[in-house]
Amino acid sequence: MTILPVIPTSPDQPDAVAVRRRPSMPPRHLADLDLAARKTAVTTLGEPAFRAKQLSTHYFGRLVRDIDEMTDLPAATRARLTDDLLPTLLTPVREMACDDGATRKTLWRLHDGALVESVLMGYPDRVTACVSSQAGCGMACPFCATGQQGLTRNLSVAEIVDQVVYLAGVAASGAVTGSPPRLSRVVFMGMGEPLANYPRVIEAVRRLTTPAPEGLGLSQRHITVSTVGLVPAMRRLTAEDLNVTLALSLHAPDDDLRDELVPVNQRWKVAEVLDAAFEYAARTGRRISIEYALIRDVNDQPWRADLLGKLLRGKLAHVNLIPLNPTPGSKWDASPKPVEREFVRRLRETGVSTTVRDTRGREIDGACGQLAAGELTEASAGGAAPDAEVAQ
Ligand code: SAH
Repeated sequence: MTILPVIPTSPDQPDAVAVRRRPSMPPRHLADLDLAARKTAVTTLGEPAFRAKQLSTHYFGRLVRDIDEMTDLPAATRARLTDDLLPTLLTPVREMACDDGATRKTLWRLHDGALVESVLMGYPDRVTACVSSQAGCGMACPFCATGQQGLTRNLSVAEIVDQVVYLAGVAASGAVTGSPPRLSRVVFMGMGEPLANYPRVIEAVRRLTTPAPEGLGLSQRHITVSTVGLVPAMRRLTAEDLNVTLALSLHAPDDDLRDELVPVNQRWKVAEVLDAAFEYAARTGRRISIEYALIRDVNDQPWRADLLGKLLRGKLAHVNLIPLNPTPGSKWDASPKPVEREFVRRLRETGVSTTVRDTRGREIDGACGQLAAGELTEASAGGAAPDAEVAQ
């Protein structure tokens, strides 16, 4: 693993040991607005309307996030527009790379001191950004590091979009060796429950998929929204007419166990949540992705593979098995490989397409919330630890 130097974006930004303040939404940013609203905003600030397109071309088209690098704008204009349209939303606290530079993780501090993380994953044919939709998470899944922290707050549209624009810029700089320079996919699998921050996540998806310069111009099909299974929000998503991929974090095929692993199951049961997912698949024609973290002796029994196969047989669904990434202090571990292989074999035997997710970024606490969780522990123990401690 390599710990990359963090370049402070501005001297008055809070540093890595800044105390956390009361959670609050950040100031407005151009990525919160569509092009029409950006035009209104610049004219209200006394600038000609064409500045909206100029700023948008820099930000979404050229991935320039710092107004001082938009050198074709007069200095006075830059000064006028910074606070109202391009405030700094994300300040890097730590950046790390592993998998020979193909995986990079950034821990961000938000304007109120909340911490979130984003991961960039390079493959030979694509580059994927994994982004956070909330600081912390209220879903309390016991195997997930973010779930242990509770919810701090929702991220704004721009806080979500800015993670992607930043990562797209990293990819464009050629930093992800062996991968194309264009970021092509976004997965909402960082911190938070995207469907619990519904309107902002949907607007962020629209911004990411609107053609440049209004948006980032990604394909809807290349965006994955992952959920614990908030049924009413899943139904709302079905009605949106968005062609995003829906991932459902199932983790157990039976209510007894799922009630424990994904506590929201106490409200919406396996049958209901799968129904909502199948409806999404039927409406969009897009295969749903069933996420299943394999946990040794907890959910990896052959009978559970058979039951899962029975539930999914003949449906437009794909199973993505994730070897559990143990969180600090957790009593749980990943399933042994022979158990994993048998689980895959049984699922495939029922005709359900199944893959095992690669374990990207383990070295850098790649799974969900672990880096931020480590940082919080260090902070509450009296300040930031030296990087070496995080590097273990
Ligand atoms: N809240 C959303 C998205 C964030 S988590 C959801 O739950 O779907 C993205 C995926 O990582 C989810 O499937 C989640 O269950 C899984 N995950 C969380 N912690 C994990 C861990 N320690 N090991 C393996 N997968 C984990």
